Amino acid sequence: MEKLWKATITAGIALGVVCFAVMMIYSLNKSVVITEEQDQKGDANLKPFVETVLKEKDDYDFVVLVNAAHGGDNKGNVVNELQEKKITLAVSKELEKLSIKEEVGIFLIRQEDTDISNENRAGVIEKIKPDLVVDLHVNADATNERTQGTSVVYNENFYRPGVTNAELADIMERCLVTEIQGKALGIFGDSQNKYPLLSMVEVPAVSVEMGYLTNKQEAGLLRKGNYQERIALGIFEGIQEIREKLR
Ligand SMILES: [Zn+2]
Repeated sequence: MEKLWKATITAGIALGVVCFAVMMIYSLNKSVVITEEQDQKGDANLKPFVETVLKEKDDYDFVVLVNAAHGGDNKGNVVNELQEKKITLAVSKELEKLSIKEEVGIFLIRQEDTDISNENRAGVIEKIKPDLVVDLHVNADATNERTQGTSVVYNENFYRPGVTNAELADIMERCLVTEIQGKALGIFGDSQNKYPLLSMVEVPAVSVEMGYLTNKQEAGLLRKGNYQERIALGIFEGIQEIREKLR
């Protein structure tokens, strides 16, 4: 009987030692810390994403994080069942396809229909430190259904020495409007903090308003795959030009 006790205790200690060793190895490998609070919010899937991008980052000269705004219960603007969150995701997927090895790497913060808090999106940006953040939105004007066109919004507070975010926004607006042959509404500083993510990041960033869901003609275009592809192309041209500018 005594032998059996001894064997049990020895086995118990051995198991404890193995568990401890596994935990130590795991914690040493954990280069990115996503807080427990973030895990509880269901954003645990951001951790492997950050690790993947950090690994692949060196394969590219210029790394862009694209943020498809809204997602999940946060649908963004909704007009006639057309949802902003779906259009931003569709365009971001088109953008992702345009990555060029050794040149421009495009990674998507939101890859599916999930709501991610701005704090966590900003956390991902802070950990990855991309060269540029492109935040995608679709606009709505409840007071005037004739309002249409694209605009680009920038953070007025942060800029890289020598290049303002306004200059980057201007490049983006010009490239996008040229590609889609759309109406340019211009660039705007986010003085009213309507784009909270912009003010939370300390890397060059622009928010692109791709069109108006409240305008029938533009809404008709925004729902089409080939128009979403053209928007992505225009934004990609903007990314390429911004890359030259930031050299
Ligand atoms: Zn939006």
